Amino acid sequence: MILQIGGQEVGATSRQRIEQLAGRRLRSIGDGDGASLPGESASYEFLRFRCGTCGRRVRRIHIDERDLPRCPQGHGVLERES
Ligand SMILES: [Zn+2]
Repeated sequence: MILQIGGQEVGATSRQRIEQLAGRRLRSIGDGDGASLPGESASYEFLRFRCGTCGRRVRRIHIDERDLPRCPQGHGVLERES
């Protein structure tokens, strides 16, 4: 087994060593619930905004058209990138 943190390989170990550390237990139905796959979700997309003055970027998963994201530096409403 290769160990990665933030996509960087940091070492290797064996299933036996993991079992020694964590104790052996059988997996059962529901053990994978709540797990997420690496990468961005296919269930939603990030809405990307950028300030035309300072270039500050902001991502949202939801926006209210009546209250669009504004530049935290005070440059007004951000422009939608995607
Ligand atoms: Zn700005």
